Amino acid sequence: MTARPMLFDSHAHVDGPEFDADRDEVLARARAAGVQRMIAIGAVGDTASAERSVALAERDPDVWATVATHPHDVAKMTPAWWEVHERLARHPRVVAIGETGLDYYYNHSPHEDQRAAFARFIEIAREVGKPVVCHIRDAHEEAREILVRHRAPELGCVIHCFTGTPDDARAYAALGCYVSFSGIVTYKTAQPLRDAVPLVPRDRVLIETDCPYLAPIPKRGKRNEPGFLVHTAEVVAACSGMSFEELAEQTARNTCAVFRLTPP
Ligand SMILES: [Zn+2]
Ligand SMILES: [Zn+2]
Repeated sequence: MTARPMLFDSHAHVDGPEFDADRDEVLARARAAGVQRMIAIGAVGDTASAERSVALAERDPDVWATVATHPHDVAKMTPAWWEVHERLARHPRVVAIGETGLDYYYNHSPHEDQRAAFARFIEIAREVGKPVVCHIRDAHEEAREILVRHRAPELGCVIHCFTGTPDDARAYAALGCYVSFSGIVTYKTAQPLRDAVPLVPRDRVLIETDCPYLAPIPKRGKRNEPGFLVHTAEVVAACSGMSFEELAEQTARNTCAVFRLTPP
C-alpha cells in the first residue's frame, strides 16, 4: 500500500481563540487526515495574532507563520504595530508577509488606509526577502495595479481564498501569482470558481482551509479546521483533471516553492 499523499494547508488561522480549547487535537486530526503541514496566518486583529502564530511555528516543525495586519484592521494600526511586524518579519519561522491586501466587500477600513498598508507590507516583504500572502475581495483590478507597481510577483505572491472571476484568475496567473482555493470552491453556487481552477497553471495552484471560517461541504456551517482540507482538495482535483494524489502532491510542492520550504 502506498502512503497517502501529504496535503499542505496554505492558509490557516490556527492561532485564534476558536482553537484554544482543543488546538492539539485539531492538529492531530489534521495529521491523521493527511494534512501534515500548514501555514499559520498571524494577521487577525492586533499584533497578538502574529505573536501567537510565530510561537506556534516555533514549537511545531510542520507549522510556519506569516505576519501582517488584515485589511479589515489596518485603520487601527499604530506605529507600535508596525514595529512588531517589522521585527517578526525577520523571524526564521516566518515565511511570508500576510495576509495583506484590499477588502472592498466589507470595507471595515477606509480604502486609502488599505491601499497604503498593502503597499507598505509589500515593501517589508521586499526588505526581508519573503513572499506576500494577499487577501483581495471585490478589488482585483486595483490590487493587481498595486502588485505590479510594487513588483510583488517577483517576491512570490499568493492570492489567498480566491473569489474573483475566471478572468481574474487568468490575470493573476499572467502576473506569475499563485492562486489559492478555499472551501468556497465546494459550494453549489461557486461554479465560476470551479471554472477558474483549470485556468491557473498547475504549478501555481494552492489549497487552503482559511479555518476557522469557510468550512467546505460536507462540513459547511461547522468550525473549519485543517483536516477538512481533504474535501476542498477533492473538488479542486476534479476541476483540474488530476487525481487526488496528483493534486495533493502538486499543491504541496507549489506551497513549498512559494514559501521556500524543502519539499517533504
Ligand atoms: Zn483572507
Ligand atoms: Zn485568512
